[in-house]
Amino acid sequence: MDFRSDTVTKPTERMRQAMLEALVGDDVYGDDPTVNRLEAMMAEMMGKAAGLFVPSGHFSNQCAIMTHTRRGDEIIVLEDCHIVLHECGAPGLLSGVNTRLARSDLGEYDVEEVKRLIRGDDIHEPRTALICLENAHGNGRAIPLVAMKEIWELAKEYDIPVHLDGARIFNAATALECNVRDIARYADSVSICLSKGLSAPIGSVLVGSADFIARARRNRKIMGGGMRQVGVIAAAGIVALEDMVDRLDDDHILANYLGIQLDDIGGIQVAWDRLDINMVFFTLEQDIDLAAKLEDADILINGAEFGEYRIVINKDVNKEDVDRLIIAIREILGAA
Ligand SMILES: *Cc1c(COP(=O)(O)O)cnc(C)c1O
Repeated sequence: MDFRSDTVTKPTERMRQAMLEALVGDDVYGDDPTVNRLEAMMAEMMGKAAGLFVPSGHFSNQCAIMTHTRRGDEIIVLEDCHIVLHECGAPGLLSGVNTRLARSDLGEYDVEEVKRLIRGDDIHEPRTALICLENAHGNGRAIPLVAMKEIWELAKEYDIPVHLDGARIFNAATALECNVRDIARYADSVSICLSKGLSAPIGSVLVGSADFIARARRNRKIMGGGMRQVGVIAAAGIVALEDMVDRLDDDHILANYLGIQLDDIGGIQVAWDRLDINMVFFTLEQDIDLAAKLEDADILINGAEFGEYRIVINKDVNKEDVDRLIIAIREILGAA
């Protein structure tokens, strides 16, 4: 039983079949019909003109940053976004840009602060070249559309492009009960993961305008991401979009059930203000290593980060697994 992440999900039988039968070509020549179909499909779903298949969400975000900026520019990011926390300082390394951190209020910007962070014309200052959003946020929240709209309108007022890290945008749309387009409209470019809750083995798609994607295609090559007969992987991505979007709600419902069960144990504080999607965050009153103890019971969760645990529901765990997890946690807390 693996609750560490939704990235651990295995491809479905239909994905494996699609991979086996995929029509392929050399994608660096633009000749892979399966990749072309996936890119067009994702672009259409997001309401953008074009898409680019890339190896990972990390790659996608960095390719977007490289495409939106020039060396020496500055990008505005939330202090707790994936780009800052989990991408190895790549904006500085790969694109030569500085990150200007904004305070995060549960994954939302303070618009007045962002206004102050946008640079002026002074020659001492770097150019503000990009503002990044994240939805769903890695903290478990689906960010309300109004919050995105405010940042989008501010950015447009200053003629600054907006990139959305939409690794879990389908989870966000499910939680917000809207179409993904309603979220994507507040960004010039969007990065979407196929390999998380959607359960494809590999891959993300970056979408945006035709001109942006043409330039991103060159940057993907610079980053070493020009892949050849990659339709074998893209085929699983197409199935992910066809089969796996509508079931995300099941993950969210099960996560909510898990939250209620954890609440019931006592000595556990569930972060209900961030329980919008498939991730349950909580802290323990007892000072024990819950992850290590659960591993003895063959249950995997990540270790605590800053004292907080995260359990991620995904398509490869079901309600019986969650019930077993609850029993195991009860025993561990009772015994400690
Ligand atoms: C997982 C994730 C990414 C990166 O995706 P990888 O495919 O693991 O590189 C980017 N942003 C967010 C918010 C994520 O959750």
